[in-house]
Amino acid sequence: MSAPLPIWKTHYNHPSEWDQSFAPLSLPAMLEASAAAHGAADLMDFMGRRYSYAETLDAANRVACGLQAMGIAKGDRVGLFLPNVPHYLAAYYGALKIGATVVNFSPLYTVDELAHQVSDSGTRVLFTLSAKALLPTALKVMAHSALERVIVGSVAGVLPMGKSILYRLFKRDEVAEMPHGDPRVTRFSALVDNDGACSCAPIDPVNDVALIQYTGGTTGTPKGAMLTHQNLTGNARQVDLLDPDPSAPDRIVGVLPFFHVFANTCVLNRTVHRGGMIAMLPRFDAAQTLALVQRVKATALPGVPTMYQALLDHPRVDRTDFSSLRVCISGGAPLPAEVKARFEEHTGAKVVEGYGLTESSGVVSTNPYEGLNKPGTIGQPIPGTLVKLVDKEDPTRPPPQGQPGELVFAGPQVMKGYWNRPDADADVFVDGFLRTGDVGEIDADGYIRIVDRLKDMIAVGGFKVFPSQIEAILYRNPAVKEALVIGVPDAYHGEMPKAFVTLSEGAAMDGEALKAWLNPQLGKHERVLAVEVRLNLPKTLIGKLSRKELVAEEKQRAASA
Ligand code: AMP
Repeated sequence: MSAPLPIWKTHYNHPSEWDQSFAPLSLPAMLEASAAAHGAADLMDFMGRRYSYAETLDAANRVACGLQAMGIAKGDRVGLFLPNVPHYLAAYYGALKIGATVVNFSPLYTVDELAHQVSDSGTRVLFTLSAKALLPTALKVMAHSALERVIVGSVAGVLPMGKSILYRLFKRDEVAEMPHGDPRVTRFSALVDNDGACSCAPIDPVNDVALIQYTGGTTGTPKGAMLTHQNLTGNARQVDLLDPDPSAPDRIVGVLPFFHVFANTCVLNRTVHRGGMIAMLPRFDAAQTLALVQRVKATALPGVPTMYQALLDHPRVDRTDFSSLRVCISGGAPLPAEVKARFEEHTGAKVVEGYGLTESSGVVSTNPYEGLNKPGTIGQPIPGTLVKLVDKEDPTRPPPQGQPGELVFAGPQVMKGYWNRPDADADVFVDGFLRTGDVGEIDADGYIRIVDRLKDMIAVGGFKVFPSQIEAILYRNPAVKEALVIGVPDAYHGEMPKAFVTLSEGAAMDGEALKAWLNPQLGKHERVLAVEVRLNLPKTLIGKLSRKELVAEEKQRAASA
């Protein structure tokens, strides 16, 4: 029998302490409690237009009643295909209030990606905006799937008066035309045209699924992680417990995309829990983010490493007043020590690196806001989280003495399981702990360092790219016989995908031509740096294509460059 595994707990990880902090709580109940305590306070700032807690709750209640009137009921799936706009919060809390499950979709998805996840999740209704980049995609998906309805908001409708006029004048090209007379398309304004006073089925926070969040997991095939209300309110409360001054003013910059768990927990749920304000931008833009920090006197700026780098590289950074900023939470990808140091020097605010994954509702560990930060580490487990290392080959055993191991963890934030994928659950849960596919080591103070990755994932900035999905597209080209995609080091993004192929008999395409064919079919962050044509690709003993050798080769090439 193997020895019991050492489990890392930080000083605040004693169960009796955190059991009380994590009493069952649903997401709508969390919003209602904050609205009761701070009704008149601002919850959202969108381009200068403010929405209070009371207004946001009212909008969510109206969405709830509107959805109910459409026949959407507890357990149904409601999709959000939205950038960071006020409609997001109303739709999110409104759908949750009637006990529906929210399915988050990246606004960058292509028709194929969206259609696959809409069908897999059985999404009945989809919220989107009347933008050319969104509405036509949603309508195409509705034409080819069981999606029943699309609800369309307008950006101009939520802007302050002056900006709304400018938007209608100058952004006309970006606005998509609404289809006429299609009963399956409803305007957001029509949906919320009710008194918001319908009654809703009770929510069981511990068992009811609040979010289905698609992720590549450890294998790269997108599957929906089921996060319960308790997972999400639990993680929000865990994150809030990290702040040594919970009553400090809180104005958080919301430029991380809300559809991702990092923002869902660290920007949205955590801020609603503590009664703070979210100053949002539809998408990240360095100049606008710097202007926003100064305009709202932001106190917190969560981001991914490439965002901090882009802010530092922008000329406006020298003219920005950062004096209000307390903390920047970096996650999603490794934070280079020099980016942390330069950003801290420039702003005077602390940049703390944390770590998490979709299956953890967002956050597993972090360096502390105050106290010892160890650059290059992802800090210590957050309150209520137990972390241990297991053998990379056999997760039921500890790793060999002194060797790194796969990180596994347990806590209130661990997902319920994958949507309709019991086979995947069996792979990812071991003795009540969740496997991460990340390999790490833990120092004597409990700080975790990630040293490798078992899963075939490429972290392009904070965006996750899965080689198998790019390879699948390459195989659609008749010139391609075999394809492998790996991550190669990139100074700005941390990593970028690179493809290696062999050609079919008689084919004559070169790497440049293949890249020009491939990249337009990929999402912005999936685009490959290069396609290299080879005579052979590495294979395992049983003849399976193997990425390992190519990864080692590229690492060596980068080191000697
Ligand atoms: P996702 O499910 O999209 O949030 O991706 C989660 C994965 O991102 C983790 O399993 C890690 O591989 C990676 N990740 C997140 N935060 C960090 C970090 N601070 N350093 C290194 N990798 C990270």
